[in-house]
Amino acid sequence: MRLCGRAAAVRRRVLCLWLLLLGFALVTLALSDLFNRDRDHSHQNPAPPRRPLQRIPSAPDLEVIVDSWDPALELGVDVAPLKSLQEDQLLFVPSTQGTKNPTQRKGTYKVILPGVIKGTTAPPARTHEEIGKQVRLHLEDKEKDDELSAVQKYGFNEVLSERISVQRRLPEARHPECLGEQYSESLPSASVVICFHEEAWSTLLRTVHSVLDTAPKQYLQEVLLVDDLSQHGHLKSVLSEYVSHLEGVRLIRSNKRLGVGGCRSLGAARAAGEVLVFMDSHCECEKGWLEPLLERVAQDRTRVVSPIMDVIHWQTFQYNATQWPVRGVFDWRLDFSWESNPQLQEKDPDSAVQAMRSPALGGGVVVIDRHFFQSVGGYDPGMLLWGAEQIELSIRVWSCGGSMEVVPCSRVAHVDHHHLPYVFPDQEGLQRNKIRIADTWMDAYRKIFYRRDTLAHFIRQSESPNITERLRLKRSLGCRNFHWYLTTVYPQLYIPQDRPALSGELYNVGTGSCADLPRGQGLQGGVMNVAPCSGTGSQHCDLNSDSEVRWGPMGALCLDAEGEKVVVTPCPKHKPSSSSSSSSSSRLQWKFIKLSGQLVHQQSQLCVEAVKEGGLSQSSQGEANTRTSTGRLLLRPCTHHPRQQWHFEQLVAPKGA
Ligand code: UDP
Ligand code: MN
Repeated sequence: MRLCGRAAAVRRRVLCLWLLLLGFALVTLALSDLFNRDRDHSHQNPAPPRRPLQRIPSAPDLEVIVDSWDPALELGVDVAPLKSLQEDQLLFVPSTQGTKNPTQRKGTYKVILPGVIKGTTAPPARTHEEIGKQVRLHLEDKEKDDELSAVQKYGFNEVLSERISVQRRLPEARHPECLGEQYSESLPSASVVICFHEEAWSTLLRTVHSVLDTAPKQYLQEVLLVDDLSQHGHLKSVLSEYVSHLEGVRLIRSNKRLGVGGCRSLGAARAAGEVLVFMDSHCECEKGWLEPLLERVAQDRTRVVSPIMDVIHWQTFQYNATQWPVRGVFDWRLDFSWESNPQLQEKDPDSAVQAMRSPALGGGVVVIDRHFFQSVGGYDPGMLLWGAEQIELSIRVWSCGGSMEVVPCSRVAHVDHHHLPYVFPDQEGLQRNKIRIADTWMDAYRKIFYRRDTLAHFIRQSESPNITERLRLKRSLGCRNFHWYLTTVYPQLYIPQDRPALSGELYNVGTGSCADLPRGQGLQGGVMNVAPCSGTGSQHCDLNSDSEVRWGPMGALCLDAEGEKVVVTPCPKHKPSSSSSSSSSSRLQWKFIKLSGQLVHQQSQLCVEAVKEGGLSQSSQGEANTRTSTGRLLLRPCTHHPRQQWHFEQLVAPKGA
């Protein structure tokens, strides 16, 4: 009997185990079905949105908010099993029992109340950790996708990122003096607006958790996640569910693709905090980052500020502290960069903790008073998807009464990822954004831009941007002109002279190629080559009245000689005075003889010659070959050989654009 009883118990246990396994298998099946379905969607062109708009006819631009921050919503947390979550049903359940009346929200979006998702009894709530774990398990499965495809999908090593905790802590990188800084006790409240489009799960969640873990509660009004029409499965109901468990985090979904500026403007319109913190969806905040920023804005509401942006490597996810002092700049192609320059640091010992004025700020984290943001014109609504919106904001803020600075006691790290094709369905979107900047803000200086970005020039020739509203805004705000900006805010930017026949691509008659600096040489310059003429403006140079040949989109590199090699090196900060005949300045001086096409190095009186790699003669080669030939630039005794004959070819007529 006892034996029988034991056998029955064992059978029962085995049965239980089987049932458990069966249950688990069913849930896994449902989950993988859900993800696969979403994944399929993500590979298609965004299908016509499956929105049951007919349900709410008065809301053509329906957005959705998942809210957890209202304590009333915390009461009846209901989490339906994942398999029952139909994305659009979930997102568009009318919230009739809510504490918030949709009409109070202008009727353009709904608040999802987790308790009324299905209106049925539901299994007990899962914690966000459990949801996260489930998503991670699913993603680990996908690790069979190699790292390469993950990099292709996100522009960074997502497989590695998934293995790093969403709550990792960054090492302390602040200057020791920052740790003793005191901040006002009554700082303004902040809404952290995080827009995302097809962001990876791990990086998005790490961003959110790092804000929650580092921002003092009394200053953090909310974290506002704004989904810019993502299609990836993990950003749908799983994310809604996850977020509904996080106190102080709201999720808004746009049903139109808005782009960076539009998405941030939407977040700003819904934000309740006094100060807006626009943050990319792949950031990690360091301890104490928020207070110094809020303090600077509280002292002057027209100040727009940024932390030092540290770098998370896209491949290794290693953290790299950025060297202070650093400031945001842009070049004549309207590309933004951070410039770390120890020489900028004054001798003043306080400078390690003092904010530094910056001609521009990057988009990674921008902190701005909400009212000032609105009154200075938000983000330009005419800008497309991605690119250069931070430059537009920077020029506008400075020109229209505000200022910008980097605050060194605040640090936030950002994953510097590659740009992905889906961000650029329209390859010319970035150029169109730049055209808006040039035509709205740069006055006659815009020609300098168009000469260095010929794609923008050609687009501009066939279409005109509609900037009427922005010009009206500029007038009504009484904004200053670009000359003021260049001389007062950004005097470090070299202003090219671009004289006809003395600027443009430097075309070599003998090789049919153009003078070129190989990619990846950076700000320090390097050895000059000849390469196929790009025609894009990337090889533009400018022989100025100081006899310098200025190279690069900043014009900050100067044609120079190292022995027989022709190189470019950083130009001296101060103008070489014409009376001085110091060797360093004459090394940078060149004379162009139009008649012979010779470019003569003033110090050595030698001529620039294009020499084919290996020094072979090209006389035996055909035209087609010579057109694409590459080679080095060397100083040689002057002759009349075609390889010593050059033209400055302007791609954009002086009166163009
Ligand atoms: N983003 C968006 N909509 C878009 C393109 C980008 O919401 O159409 C988001 C993106 O997810 C990121 C932020 O805007 O959080 C800035 O984009 P990204 O990081 O690609 O810009 P980068 O840092 O490379 O300049
Ligand atoms: Mn980014």
